[in-house]
Amino acid sequence: MLTVGIISSKGDPRIALVPETVDKYLKLPCTLLFEKGCGQSASIPDEVFGTKVVFEPRTEVLSKSDILLSPLPPERDDLQHIRPGTVLVSMFAPFQNPGVADPLKEKQVSAYSLDMIPRSTLAQAMDVLSSMASIAGYKAVLLAASLLPRYFPMLMTASGTIKPAKALVLGAGVAGLQAIATARRLGAVVEVFDTRKAVKEEVESLGAKFVEVEGAKDEKSAGGYAVEQTEEFLAKQRQMVQERAAKSDVIICTAQVRGRKAPVLITSDTVAKMRPGSVIVDLASSTGGNCEVTRDKQTINHLGITIIGNSQLADTVAIDASFLLSNNYLNFLKMLVKEGKINHDAGNEILRSSCITL
Ligand code: NAD
Repeated sequence: MLTVGIISSKGDPRIALVPETVDKYLKLPCTLLFEKGCGQSASIPDEVFGTKVVFEPRTEVLSKSDILLSPLPPERDDLQHIRPGTVLVSMFAPFQNPGVADPLKEKQVSAYSLDMIPRSTLAQAMDVLSSMASIAGYKAVLLAASLLPRYFPMLMTASGTIKPAKALVLGAGVAGLQAIATARRLGAVVEVFDTRKAVKEEVESLGAKFVEVEGAKDEKSAGGYAVEQTEEFLAKQRQMVQERAAKSDVIICTAQVRGRKAPVLITSDTVAKMRPGSVIVDLASSTGGNCEVTRDKQTINHLGITIIGNSQLADTVAIDASFLLSNNYLNFLKMLVKEGKINHDAGNEILRSSCITL
């Protein structure tokens, strides 16, 4: 019987398998072997997993597993304990870490990176990017609301009328749409930019205003992803963003182009025109950020504007993020494991696109 090992990831509180999905995993069928204490940082103690699973020290899990699951790739030091032929399932982010597969190849382990699966209907239940982006969009708005020295909703009180906050959302992909929905629920007035006209209807159905910039390249061949825009278009867009940014209390940045640096849509001049106290949350910070002033993994105050650079906000909702990851990983394993055996089927588009070494 296959042994599926679950290990923690340094600096990431999430876990790839939660107690609620244990029975479903066991039906693969497989034996589940957990690293002791691996759910602790997601507030999931070992006892909650029940008696059908086994807990052992990390090195034992590494050496005994046929398949290893983790949110982030195993550490370099872990490789000495992993047997050749083991299959690693994780989020390797090969676009950001181009050499990530080299040591794995050398060790003759196979690796599937779930952030590389196609964004198709068939793959939706394994789409870790979507499940994590949705959390990030939600949390970005909550962070902004808690740091903004203003209310979000309009309020009419005996002491005066409060105007609703104005939010600007850049990029209406998975994170952006969740940010729009959350900001609207809190009562903000929301404006949105995206280069893909296809999202206009979705944006409007959430009660936000879609601001169109003429001349965007929107290629159907990019699999639904945005394509890189011309410098001329980006300059026009920056100008329109600047006009709106000056009147916004909150900006949520989510605009990304797969495999490339994020487009800069908010220059330092634009930040200088914003009202003191305003908040920018830049979810694109790990790929350079949409705001020129953003510093990845930092919260800074620039001319009275709070700028949060964080592409890992899903980590801050570790219990639900782990639950969603656990389902994503399970759905992937249901495809990878056939009749109790690992089936590296190169004819399967999802397996082929996510495999970074075999
Ligand atoms: P993403 O994180 O790559 O980018 C976020 C958004 O930024 C996108 O909507 C993109 O159009 C936008 N953007 C890029 N450049 C911009 C610019 N200069 N100005 C303004 N906006 C800009 O996107 P994502 O959320 O990962 O989604 C990517 C695509 O995949 C979308 O088409 C989405 O609908 C699709 N998708 C499909 C599935 C599925 O069917 N399984 C699941 C998730 C996403």
